[in-house]
Amino acid sequence: MSFVNINISATLQLNELTHALIDKGRTVYKFGLGQAPFPPPACTVEALRTHADQKAYTPVQGIMPLREAIVSFYSRRDNIQCTPENVLVAPGSKLLLYAIMAAFEQLDVLLPLPSWVSYATQARILGHSVIGIQTHVADAWKISPATLEKAIISGRKNIPKLLIINSPSNPTGMAYTAEELAALTQVLRKYNIYALSDEIYGPLHHMDKHVSLATLYPERTMITSGLSKWAGSGGWRLGVLLLSHTVEPTLKQALIGIASETWSCAPTPIQYAAITAYKASEAINDYLQHTRRIYAATGNAIAAKLQQEGVYVHSPNGGFYLFLDFSSFSDTLAKRGIQDSRTLCTQLLHEKGVALLAGVEFGMAPDYLCARLSYVDFDGEKAFTASRAIGIENSLDRAFINTHMHRQCGGIQALVQWLHS
Ligand code: PLP
Repeated sequence: MSFVNINISATLQLNELTHALIDKGRTVYKFGLGQAPFPPPACTVEALRTHADQKAYTPVQGIMPLREAIVSFYSRRDNIQCTPENVLVAPGSKLLLYAIMAAFEQLDVLLPLPSWVSYATQARILGHSVIGIQTHVADAWKISPATLEKAIISGRKNIPKLLIINSPSNPTGMAYTAEELAALTQVLRKYNIYALSDEIYGPLHHMDKHVSLATLYPERTMITSGLSKWAGSGGWRLGVLLLSHTVEPTLKQALIGIASETWSCAPTPIQYAAITAYKASEAINDYLQHTRRIYAATGNAIAAKLQQEGVYVHSPNGGFYLFLDFSSFSDTLAKRGIQDSRTLCTQLLHEKGVALLAGVEFGMAPDYLCARLSYVDFDGEKAFTASRAIGIENSLDRAFINTHMHRQCGGIQALVQWLHS
């Protein structure tokens, strides 16, 4: 008997190891796991409480008032043209990514590297081919029209191709500009490529300048997003898919069919609560403004410190990740027997209690000395309250970072010491 060869995710393994060390009394700086630290917006929690007794299955695509609210949210924020008929709600966007890939009998998945851990695994479970598009720190970890075209040409003849683009990105923290996306669009159009634009970190663009690929390439772009990141509610499991009005009817039908045969519908009380999250309101604007600027201040402070110490890292554009390139330390690390990213992260965790996720988990070559750092190890509720007390008109200063990000500052200090030791 042979089964799908799939291991427990690297993120969860790291989490278990981290907790084992904590249980032994060690201090661990948790830069490994990417979970939003803020509580969900209070108005959505209240709405969930009100609708806790909703127990019926809903239509597969989700309840209409939610789909309407989603359409208006993305039209308002990102200028997306979509109708409620082309929205599919699911228990998390991860399942939607899987459903999209499952809708194709055969597929070449074009994947910028480094990329979030699950895309390639999902593609492989479904028997699809993955064509990695290597990016580099010097290019801010972004693909170019030339690298995209090369990847397309290297794929199989007459097999549909799907580019997965994630902006702002997990793991790099980088976001594509409108100009960069426009240049990629020319290539996508030339070869009639499908695009899956994973915009789960879109509302967390630090300057609130998220650009959706769907505004430039509406005919073949599918957008996935959800509440997990921007609304601090990963465990609520609410993901959304927006299809363009020109989507092939058979593709839409396949997606709804897969949904109906697998998850049936997203949890009903959560769908009702989500209406509050997607409706225009002062409370949600306020929540987003504060959480975004806390992420920006934290990410920028950490990136600046690491840059100063010789690590190649970009200041983030959005989300809550930095991708660290330790190439400049390769000689000194080699002398300590460290020649690959997994050994680097294991030693760093055991010797200094600093938990990073190795670059190899994101599809990078094993010997490329790089790792992802998520800067969410802080008390979101306290930081949020403090940011509101400071007022949106005043910026968050060093004192804010020192007070609310002291654990992370300690972790960065430990990492720097370790690198120079
Ligand atoms: N896409 C990216 C880039 C992510 O980082 C995550 C979660 O970590 C997801 C999708 C899945 O999110 P969810 O299934 O909670 O909507």
